[in-house]
Amino acid sequence: MLKLTKKGLQRVLRGHPWIFRTDLNLPEGAPTPQPGALVSYAGPDGRVMGIAAWSPKSSIALRALPIDPKGPNGARSTEDLEQAYKELILSALDRRKERPLACRLCNADADGLPGLTIDRYNDGISIQALTWSAYNRLETIVQILVDRYNPSVIALRNDSKVSEHEGLPYEKRLLRGTNSVVKAPIGDLTLTFDLIEGQKTGGFLDQTDNRIAAAQFARGSCLDCFCYDGGFSLQLAKKGLNVTAVDSSAPALAKLQENAQVNHLIITTVEENVFDLLRDYESKGQSFDTIILDPPAFIRTRAAREAGRRAYKEINLRAFKLLAKHGRLVTCSCSAHMERPEFETVVAEAAADAHRFARVIERRSAAPDHPSMLTAPETDYLKVLFIEVE
Ligand code: SAH
Repeated sequence: MLKLTKKGLQRVLRGHPWIFRTDLNLPEGAPTPQPGALVSYAGPDGRVMGIAAWSPKSSIALRALPIDPKGPNGARSTEDLEQAYKELILSALDRRKERPLACRLCNADADGLPGLTIDRYNDGISIQALTWSAYNRLETIVQILVDRYNPSVIALRNDSKVSEHEGLPYEKRLLRGTNSVVKAPIGDLTLTFDLIEGQKTGGFLDQTDNRIAAAQFARGSCLDCFCYDGGFSLQLAKKGLNVTAVDSSAPALAKLQENAQVNHLIITTVEENVFDLLRDYESKGQSFDTIILDPPAFIRTRAAREAGRRAYKEINLRAFKLLAKHGRLVTCSCSAHMERPEFETVVAEAAADAHRFARVIERRSAAPDHPSMLTAPETDYLKVLFIEVE
């Protein structure tokens, strides 16, 4: 039986699903479970506390799943546990019944399935199986998805650093079908996603609802910074707004234009570093009625905190300066290492330094198909503010 140390017990009692190797009393040479096995773990007194999946290499040795360790006849059998895992997948899919055809079907820990992310893009599905528990059950997972959605293509996107920490192969490949390019409706648009070449699982579905809401909120001349393939820009242009989209990646802008063309929209693209461009616009006295700031995570590690904070401050400060009277700002941060209050403080400092009166109209987060886990606050990573200035 895997037993927690006293410190490990405290963490588990706070409801966090991760148990570090150092949180376990592992006697030297003691046998360990198979990679990905679902096992019970106990407190220091030997009392069984829950079920978790074993990772042989990661510093996170166990990840808890919301499975009752006691079955009707006492301890659960292996088959029983495998059935419980399948049921967790099925209920994650059931919870998305009301969601659009492009949505996240499973959001890892918050759906009780550590390391398993499943994104659906209409007829294509993309999977990240970044723990041994998810990876070793890929066949079962694919079978469930085929039975329910019969997609023409399923991609595995384990080309993430997390694979390496977990000791899994770094790979991206098709598990079903041959064409990784799929079309999916997003709001009133039809967009193309490449499940193998696109970022992460092929796109960023966490912002779907925010993009549609931003298009309602936006007005006049719009500047979409860090636009990638146009998630925000396309929705804004569909509302008839005049959009300039900026990104430093030429392939991302080319994809944006492809999507614009298919949807009969006109968007001006600028291939530039946003930091330089905002400074340049400011020196020329240019202004915009709406600015979208959806940058990459500037804070990826605790050590990058200060530099990241400065980067958020800088783009928000410049945006406040560039906004026209009664202008609107949609500002986002997807850095898990920056909690919501700190992000709001940075944006507030930017508004104050720019001498702008700023009123918050709405505070948003990731779409409801990207739930976060209340007892693991870092899973609530996406912060979005809709702001209006005087
Ligand atoms: N807003 C996008 C997602 C942004 S992802 C959406 O709604 O889907 C981050 C994007 O920022 C990437 O496309 C990357 O190419 C771009 N990027 C990163 N640093 C940049 C910089 N300094 N200037 C311009 N673009 C940058």
